[in-house]
Amino acid sequence: MKHEKLLKTILKKTTYSGSLKPKQRHISASSFNLEPMQLYLRYQHGDISKEDNFNESTLGSIFQLGIDSILSENNQFKYAIRREITLGNNWSVSGEIDASDEDNKYIYDFKLLNQRGYDNSIKKQSYISNMSIYKYLFQDYNEFFLFAINKQGKSIKSPIYSIIDVTDKLWSWHDTEQKLLDITNNIEYWIKDPDSIPECNIWEYGKDKHKRPAKCSMYCSWNQVCPTFQSRDKASNYHVLKNLL
Ligand code: SF4
Repeated sequence: MKHEKLLKTILKKTTYSGSLKPKQRHISASSFNLEPMQLYLRYQHGDISKEDNFNESTLGSIFQLGIDSILSENNQFKYAIRREITLGNNWSVSGEIDASDEDNKYIYDFKLLNQRGYDNSIKKQSYISNMSIYKYLFQDYNEFFLFAINKQGKSIKSPIYSIIDVTDKLWSWHDTEQKLLDITNNIEYWIKDPDSIPECNIWEYGKDKHKRPAKCSMYCSWNQVCPTFQSRDKASNYHVLKNLL
């Protein structure tokens, strides 16, 4: 392919380096909000590589690499700091913050969003849970900010960015630990009894006019190893995909 070298170079640099291998008792801040089946498949198969796929997360990574490069010019700021703690049930939890202000002990989580995501950013519970896990891992920091950027930029009238203080919205250290123990204990249970895994909610808003699953087939990187997805009629999936194109 004509541009293969360029694309592969970009994808290699932007693939998340902390990806999980199979059978690791480990949860990350970013995987905390996955559906039960996704958490189970993540344990069984690891993070399925997206290295050959230029997707939404590639854009986010390109943006983050730009931020890293800019902040590296000033000693007050650090970026991409990763920490890990082992819980009482021997599962480990990790999180990597986007940026910190070391003078003031602030943590920033950057979000590159479309208009709808930008408008809803303050209400999004998954951002609060991510940041609560950062607070759990980074107890020596004082304040936590969501740095929401509206990528529609000049084409809109509303602000292009907001820096939202979420410190008071975050869970307590104790509550976060309990939620992490609960979710990892649940994964242990699902590993022993896969039949008990609840169906993904994503199916509910991903059905086409014939009530066939749609969004999930395009959405989740575990679809090729997912028993729920695989048990659906492949022909119907073909029609769903065709309708979506
Ligand atoms: S493929 Fe669908 S059902 Fe399976 S884990 Fe992904 S979202 Fe859930």
